[in-house]
Amino acid sequence: MSRYDAIIVGAGSIGVPTAMALAEEGVKVLVIDQNASPGQGENKHAIGGIRATHSSPGKILTALRSLEIFSTWEEKTGEDIEWLQGGYLFPVYRKEEEEILKGILPVQKKHCLNIDYVGPEEVKEVLPGINEEGLLGGTYSPEDGSASPLLAINSFYRKAASAGAEFRFGLHVDAILCQKGRVVGVRAGSESFSTAVVVDTAGPFSRALCGTVGVEVPVYADSHEAAITEPVKNFFGCMVVDLRPGPGSKNFYFYQNRRGQVVFCITPDPPILGTDKRETSVFLPQVSARMVGLLPRLKNLRVRRMWRGLYPMTPDGSPIVGWNRDIEGLLHATGMCGQGFMLGPGMGELVARMIRGETTENDEVILEEFSPYRQFAGQEALK
Ligand SMILES: Cc1cc2nc3c(=O)[nH]c(=O)nc-3n(C[C@H](O)[C@H](O)[C@H](O)COP(=O)(O)OP(=O)(O)OC[C@H]3O[C@@H](n4cnc5c(N)ncnc54)[C@H](O)[C@@H]3O)c2cc1C
Repeated sequence: MSRYDAIIVGAGSIGVPTAMALAEEGVKVLVIDQNASPGQGENKHAIGGIRATHSSPGKILTALRSLEIFSTWEEKTGEDIEWLQGGYLFPVYRKEEEEILKGILPVQKKHCLNIDYVGPEEVKEVLPGINEEGLLGGTYSPEDGSASPLLAINSFYRKAASAGAEFRFGLHVDAILCQKGRVVGVRAGSESFSTAVVVDTAGPFSRALCGTVGVEVPVYADSHEAAITEPVKNFFGCMVVDLRPGPGSKNFYFYQNRRGQVVFCITPDPPILGTDKRETSVFLPQVSARMVGLLPRLKNLRVRRMWRGLYPMTPDGSPIVGWNRDIEGLLHATGMCGQGFMLGPGMGELVARMIRGETTENDEVILEEFSPYRQFAGQEALK
């Protein structure tokens, strides 16, 4: 059996940056994924939004580091991941959303995030053509942005591989192997691989993976649909998030990428649990009516493609990150909900520090918030 310092299960939004961070520190790491190439799980279903403007310290700190990595990636590596610093706009039409957004500003300001509540005139400047009827204002954070999930993960993958990380694709991990309560390796088909550390970055499939050693991880697949239009000349720069509920849905969000395509998705209400990824006939009429209501200029755009993917959801909308207390050597970095792409690079570095035993004070704040052993009682405001 080949012996590794760590084996990562899942070459997705979290697994690949984790491999990159570990390999760069000389850790002998193997990543195993059932799919044929990196990012073919949920990473490629993300629409590419990246923000540090969350509502809790753990997500803010993790995403701040991610934002730094995404925004400087091309400059540092010469590889274009279609980073676009267009900011995030949460327009407000009702007192309910105004209260939520103003309520989280203090924690965002405390972490020095560049975000403010602005009036309707500034909202109109950021999003020309926005429906003005009843517009009260909104929050705007100009340093947030977007990137292409597939370009980004493939670039991270190349960096990880060139630093020495090994990848095996088309291999399903059937079991985590344990002896006397300690991880000793994994079994994948007819092959076994030896290690004392297994990192669970299996996303929506973490429950199945960890179930092989009797560990219950509260991560549930929750499906969301998205779509992309034909490219047109760029006419707005920000990610727009409308938090208002609508018929059969909660919030929806969209932006125009660097190629001029508008990419969008919506949060179904009630949630659609399960792993079915077939597109529905409900999504497009539902989301387009809401988008055109908010920004009427979108009405002539033609949709080119749609897809349905899975959020790895947790009961409170926050990730699950930490060492398992019953199985020594099992490290969870899962349950990223709708934010795994944006949290990925920062999370990868954090997990690498955990494995090397070099966590910082900030890491401890993050790890307390994301602990697998928390109560799961609250609800993250912008999950
Ligand atoms: C429509 C939609 C829009 C989204 N938009 C955004 C966005 O704008 N910004 C954002 O940050 N996030 C977004 N997300 C969420 C984001 O896609 C996920 O949070 C993220 O991809 C989860 O990362 P992960 O590494 O946990 O899982 P994944 O990226 O799915 O990686 C897990 C990998 O593990 C592999 N695997 C699992 N079990 C096994 C096993 N037993 N053996 C071998 N391999 C295994 C899978 O094949 C997969 O490749 C969106 C999601 C959807 C569906």
